[in-house]
Amino acid sequence: MGFVNAIKGGSKQLAINLTTDRVVKYVQKSPEKNFQKVIRALAMMATHFGNTEPFDRFMGWLEANPGSKQWFINLMQKDRAQVANVIKLLFGNCSLKWIEKSERLQAKYGFTAPYSILISPTMRCNLNCKGCYAENYKRDADLSVEDLDNIITQGKELGTYLYTILGGEPFVRFNDLYRLATKHSDCLFQVFTNGTLITEKVANQIAELKNFIIVFSVNGDKNEVDFMRGPGVYERVIQSIEFLNQRNLMFGMSLVLTSRNYDLMTSEAFYKTWENRGVMYAWNFLFMPVVKNPDLSLMPSAEQRVTYGEYIKTYREKHPLFIMDFWADAPAVHGCIAGGRRYLHINHKGDVEPCIFAHFATHNIKQHSLLEALKSPFFTAIRQHQPHTDNLLRPCMIIDNPQILRDVCKRHNARPTAEEAKDLIENPRITAHLDAYAKEVAKVVDVVWKNKYQQNIAEMLERKRSYPEGTDRLSYRMDKTGFMQDLERYEQEDSSLARNILVEAEDAYEQYERDGDIHMKLEEDSSPPKNEQQDLPVYESGTNATAF
Ligand code: SF4
Repeated sequence: MGFVNAIKGGSKQLAINLTTDRVVKYVQKSPEKNFQKVIRALAMMATHFGNTEPFDRFMGWLEANPGSKQWFINLMQKDRAQVANVIKLLFGNCSLKWIEKSERLQAKYGFTAPYSILISPTMRCNLNCKGCYAENYKRDADLSVEDLDNIITQGKELGTYLYTILGGEPFVRFNDLYRLATKHSDCLFQVFTNGTLITEKVANQIAELKNFIIVFSVNGDKNEVDFMRGPGVYERVIQSIEFLNQRNLMFGMSLVLTSRNYDLMTSEAFYKTWENRGVMYAWNFLFMPVVKNPDLSLMPSAEQRVTYGEYIKTYREKHPLFIMDFWADAPAVHGCIAGGRRYLHINHKGDVEPCIFAHFATHNIKQHSLLEALKSPFFTAIRQHQPHTDNLLRPCMIIDNPQILRDVCKRHNARPTAEEAKDLIENPRITAHLDAYAKEVAKVVDVVWKNKYQQNIAEMLERKRSYPEGTDRLSYRMDKTGFMQDLERYEQEDSSLARNILVEAEDAYEQYERDGDIHMKLEEDSSPPKNEQQDLPVYESGTNATAF
């Protein structure tokens, strides 16, 4: 059956499979020469999916600059079966099915399925890195295989097909993960690792799976890695990378920006080194003061955040390494994605947390379903307060708007899920620092937002909400009639959820009015200063490579 017939026959997944197999096979013959034709084929495939915005953006990004074009060509030279399978899963289940199932959820409850569910199956680890608390955990504190299977089964019913696995060190449970990835071959698994437990045998098993992508947590160069993690660790990571390269597998890395490694993280030589080792993409995080007795001076300054965001944007335009930073690139995903809006985290005890860095919960997956956790007043409150400010460049309820996390945790009796979590909202040394930090970030970043992100501001004003679906603080403030109509629909399904949505939206609105100077009013920013309008570098929406 051909692509068009498959679509007509109603089997979009089959159409994706057929097109992907052909495209990958074709492009691998001559990636440079066939690039344009492949872009057209993928764009055509995307037109059959209803909401094509994420795909259009991805295509736009691929075509827009030399770095992303070369990135795609490099991707196509990786293991054919793995590349084809990952594309099928990303286009098919992780996007198309996610959209279809989310539309049903959204119509009933006002939220979509999480795009990705993060799971920490264990907190055990084979290393003992400085500042890490994983050594305190025992095997019996792990999530069981049955628990993990249950989470994924429920997630798929809701519409989630992308599972991000962290820890602890996930590879201490590789056998269990291998079984789960085999059983749930319709899901994509992205596994963050310290990179020291990948042997030749494990690399062979990863190559077999085709739905298992490794992300190496790399916090610097050899000196930094060995200093933080122990002597010899860096060489061991390089060895693991070599095992994956020998099998031509794709993989990524994750980085943490601190005030201390800023120079390294803005150096071309650093990224080039990893790019040359075969890294395809990098997820970047800011240092978060969520460990015990955190060194607050490690938080990057407001200026560092701005210049770092500009640096990675330029880098990915020119080089074949896709770098994404969850703060500087937050406008691409409409701000904070916590509370199930696009993701949530389930820790090794089963606690359902709104964000990997916010260690608070009201629900546990051993007693509640995923849907119940998503409908909970705690998660509803977080979603209704999004966007936490009208400036999507300071999206975070932990470090940019710390009063929001404190408030929702207190009002909903969210319990700390880790010993040190309480400090984040109660320890005066930390709360005072975060308040001052957030103010400083606002001072610097609001100017950038006003001057350079007019397109995003205009889009939010036109949409009257921060993101295309569901209700949020902006929809309550800017389109109350539409908000109330949505609410009537939700009420028919679940009146207590509808009531919570209203209460939380009202609360968010009141907070917004009360602390207006922190939140930055969108209406006032709708037209850019005249003298700066011509050369404004509009936010490159093509960087949104996923359907997040
Ligand atoms: S709370 Fe902060 S770190 Fe968590 S998803 Fe939102 S912006 Fe990201």
